[in-house]
Amino acid sequence: MISTEELVDTIRGQVLLGESMKEHTTLKIGGSADFFVDPLDRDDLCRVVALFEAHGLPYRLIGRGSNLLVHDEGVRGAVIVTSRALGEYRVRKNVLTSGAGVPLPAIAEKTFSLSLSGLEMLQGIPGTVGGAVAANAGAHGQEISDVVSWVEILDRGKPQVIPRDEMAFGYRYCSLEGRVILGVGMKLERLSDAGHNERDRLRREALQRRIVSQPLSWPNAGSVFRNPRPEENPSGLSAGQMIDACGLKGVRRGGAAISECHANIIINRGKAKAADVMELIGMTREHVRKMFGISLELELKLLGFEKTCC
Ligand SMILES: Cc1cc2nc3c(=O)[nH]c(=O)nc-3n(C[C@H](O)[C@H](O)[C@H](O)COP(=O)(O)OP(=O)(O)OC[C@H]3O[C@@H](n4cnc5c(N)ncnc54)[C@H](O)[C@@H]3O)c2cc1C
Repeated sequence: MISTEELVDTIRGQVLLGESMKEHTTLKIGGSADFFVDPLDRDDLCRVVALFEAHGLPYRLIGRGSNLLVHDEGVRGAVIVTSRALGEYRVRKNVLTSGAGVPLPAIAEKTFSLSLSGLEMLQGIPGTVGGAVAANAGAHGQEISDVVSWVEILDRGKPQVIPRDEMAFGYRYCSLEGRVILGVGMKLERLSDAGHNERDRLRREALQRRIVSQPLSWPNAGSVFRNPRPEENPSGLSAGQMIDACGLKGVRRGGAAISECHANIIINRGKAKAADVMELIGMTREHVRKMFGISLELELKLLGFEKTCC
């Protein structure tokens, strides 16, 4: 086990012991992390990862916790937050080089204001660039993988640039998931004035649609389940439409509920536990399996449920 002294001596950033993960996830659920580490910069983050790897102890990078359900008993090992350490970006011509901790809404807005297209439809996704790449986040016909040219990861203590053709992306899938993502290079498309106006209209419509179709005033973590693969889904319905067809909107377990306005979103009504959310997940899967013969897969990432993490 790493002693607190060793950790504090190693890093220049902040180390919190027993920090509640409620404060670091959009669902506002979860017990405490043994070590919650907020490194000062990239070198600092690499040092913390190296220290945990040297001790064979679990750690997990998180961005804004917008796709996470954390166990009520918390997380063993370290949770390392990227916002500060990997929070810088640079735009040169149509190339964006972004740290993994940069907020996606901010960078989507910034690049679009420079008449660069490729991220504008992702502006409503409240995560970081690293979290978005790890899950190949997407919305309204755009996925982050559409513009990724390279990803920089930390491999056995050394930064390594992986070119696009050496990684695979799919629907909410990236072959680099589970690796430490430090930064991303993206090639965006320069828009003409007319093109910018047209994309701006679509972008605003998409943001507006989120406001009416998502329970934005309740803590949530976006879609809970992935949409089923088309080849296994003769109904053609989305996960949300299936859950709705089962009549599950508004169903509650403890402090958690299936949203009334979006059946694929679970909200925290105030004092929800991860166990409440897991109960809803199990119950929903059971209903959908019975009605559609489909086993829904989680889009939500779990933290603290495994014995060891990445
Ligand atoms: C209201 C709302 C709307 C949403 N809408 C969408 C949507 O339209 N489309 C969509 O795809 N998603 C959506 N999401 C889900 C979520 O915002 C995205 O998945 C986002 O990309 C997660 O980023 P994050 O930084 O919050 O990741 P986190 O939740 O912090 O982490 C998610 C996973 O990524 C890993 N990870 C994070 N950073 C790194 C890193 N630097 N290196 C390696 N692994 C890392 C974590 O370990 C974890 O496994 C929505 C969420 C909410 C709350």
